[in-house]
Amino acid sequence: MISENLREVRQEIQKSCALVSSSPEQVTLVAVTKTVDLATTIQLVQEGIVHLAENRVDKFLLKKQAMVDFPQVNWHFIGNLQRRKVKSIVNEIDFLHSLDNLKLAAEIQKRATSKLKCFVEVNVSGEAAKQGIPPTAVLDFVEELAGYDKIEVVGLMTMAPQAASPVEQQQVFQRLAALRDEVVAKHPLTTCTQLSMGMSNDYQEAIKAGATYVRIGSALFREG
Ligand SMILES: *Cc1c(COP(=O)(O)O)cnc(C)c1O
Repeated sequence: MISENLREVRQEIQKSCALVSSSPEQVTLVAVTKTVDLATTIQLVQEGIVHLAENRVDKFLLKKQAMVDFPQVNWHFIGNLQRRKVKSIVNEIDFLHSLDNLKLAAEIQKRATSKLKCFVEVNVSGEAAKQGIPPTAVLDFVEELAGYDKIEVVGLMTMAPQAASPVEQQQVFQRLAALRDEVVAKHPLTTCTQLSMGMSNDYQEAIKAGATYVRIGSALFREG
């Protein structure tokens, strides 16, 4: 099942890249394993996946400990990270996709022993329940983070509204790409160049808008 799902997702990534003449090598497939057990997670890695994402600190730590035999894995943390949990995780992950406030940044700065790659989460759609800074705050926030030497801002992250149409998804993703372009235009040497956007139900649209990291869970674990 998993290998078929994976084949299909990889094919879709290729198709979407072809539509906008970009290369599939520019899109990193991050498998979101928050809903599956250790055995299923390991199966993915055996299928060649080297980027895994979790969204609960305790579950992440258990999984990582159980997977010491797979040092090729890059660990991504998605979702809300509470400040009091930073110290237990900050030196265990390779990427954080949910940096959206300076208090969290300060805690990372205090606890990290080496630079952490972070995506700034942006609430493009403006939904009240969503995490992330407003689009108007992106430039200032990224500039502020330049003062934190334990944080490497690698790009911007967003989520489209759950019930959005492909047209609305496209608008959200293009807006994030435009914000990234603004940062790069103002700071040509910035490391804030990547776009983490696209999940199981909208990654094709995200790739068409320039996504370089897609975070895909349920599409990999579908049955039948
Ligand atoms: C769960 C989750 C995903 C993956 O969602 P699917 O719809 O299962 O692909 C991606 N990003 C974030 C932030 C998530 O919480």
